[in-house]
Amino acid sequence: MAQEYDLVILGGGTGGYVAAIRASQLGLKTAIVEKGKLGGTCLHKGCIPSKALLRSAEVYATAKKSEEFGVTTGEVGVNFVKVQERKEKIVEQLHRGVQHLMKQGKIDVYEGLGRILGPSIFSPMPGTISVEMNNGEENEMLIPKNVIVATGSRPRTLPGLEADGQYVMTSDEALVMEELPKSIIIVGGGVIGIEWASMLADFGTQVTVIEYADRIVPTEDKEVSREMQRAMKKKGVKIITSAKVLSETLQKGDGVTISAEVKGETKEFTAEKLLVSVGRQANVEGIGLENTEIQLERGFIQTNEYFQTKESHIYAIGDVIGGLQLAHVASHEGIVAVEHIAGENPHPIDYTLVSKCIYSSPEAASVGLTEDEAKEKGHDVKTGKFSFKAIGKALVYGESDGFVKIVADKETNDILGVHMIGPHVTDMISEAGLAKVLDATPWEVAHTIHPHPTLSEAIGEAALAVDGKAIHS
Ligand code: FAD
Repeated sequence: MAQEYDLVILGGGTGGYVAAIRASQLGLKTAIVEKGKLGGTCLHKGCIPSKALLRSAEVYATAKKSEEFGVTTGEVGVNFVKVQERKEKIVEQLHRGVQHLMKQGKIDVYEGLGRILGPSIFSPMPGTISVEMNNGEENEMLIPKNVIVATGSRPRTLPGLEADGQYVMTSDEALVMEELPKSIIIVGGGVIGIEWASMLADFGTQVTVIEYADRIVPTEDKEVSREMQRAMKKKGVKIITSAKVLSETLQKGDGVTISAEVKGETKEFTAEKLLVSVGRQANVEGIGLENTEIQLERGFIQTNEYFQTKESHIYAIGDVIGGLQLAHVASHEGIVAVEHIAGENPHPIDYTLVSKCIYSSPEAASVGLTEDEAKEKGHDVKTGKFSFKAIGKALVYGESDGFVKIVADKETNDILGVHMIGPHVTDMISEAGLAKVLDATPWEVAHTIHPHPTLSEAIGEAALAVDGKAIHS
């Protein structure tokens, strides 16, 4: 039987389920179609499980140096089965939370594979959704006034380096590993690659990162990349940059061997496992886009600033549209799309105000332009940088590597970007985000009196340092 809705959302990931909640708040009769589990990549294969594993690795690394804190422990070890169980428990708890939120919002959830149909007896416009139900029951037919495509993304692989269930993994397989490998080659030193490098090195795995660019985390400020490289090396991670992996040279047997062209020379690398982390591709196949006028560019769905596709009643949000592939971006895009559908006149998103985080140890976080980007855009730049080495709380924590750097415009005094690497900076970046939203100057940030002793004092000091007035340097 056909069901009518104001809104049907294809995909119940962070983008989709948050959009559904906002739609329910605005009184729209809403359904979600999800072929896997509510919560999507972020909850089941991304943000949450990876951070749970990172936390276990961090606890292990801290326990190993407990003597430094005057704490004597017995022999410290890792029970990886328990590490995985803890991760699963957290994911399951949050999954139940999302299911509860759907019930609370009276959002209908269809568990199955959704597909957009072209004009039909149900509607003269494309957008009717057929759902192939997971439980094998007859297909459901949903007739929505509006659709949001939020089908997300999956790991990109390189030809010849597809996951094989034994030697070669993407982050999907790595998250459910039953044992820690003794050694691993990570192809790709971006955010996901470096989080894995940090975690596995902390667990005691011998890690080699092979990165195509001339530095790891290449979208971050150069000084952050440099500090991250130093921190990874300190953990024993081998980092090879300006290196092109020659996937056709992959040999499997007793582990994996692969060659890479490094600055004109061919070098061979061997390890027990290989993790490919070279980006993500949009899930646009099999969802009926051919029945619509929706356009793709480089594999991602094209939209306007309100996330409308070429079919104005069909929206698309989150990883499937590319750009910043982050959970908080997906959910914010979902909110804007729903408010537009409801005629609420939302503000388009200013992507320069989005904070980006890396949850390695040390963490890194940033908002706005890097120093190089600011210069490329023609700004006359001044910077202020303050090291955690002079921050009491960082010394108390025993984690004083890293810094806060503020990039500002000499003429207008605008804060253009803030970049941090060090302890708990992912929890500190929102202050910088707010400063950007409010168009604050370094002076205003510095005069937001930061409590002592806190790590956030580094932000106040970096703001003072922009005009050469830092106190503790
Ligand atoms: P998804 O979360 O991918 O959800 C899409 C959903 O659509 C899925 O549940 C899928 O099953 C469903 N679906 C697809 N096709 C259909 C169909 N035809 N019918 C029905 N359902 C369908 N981001 C952060 O902000 N912070 C982090 O710390 C972070 N860590 C990450 C770590 C890893 C290892 C990875 C891989 C990603 C991480 N991300 C992180 C990125 C984040 O997970 C994504 O940006 C986010 O999940 C995107 O949300 P989405 O709703 O667009 O898509």
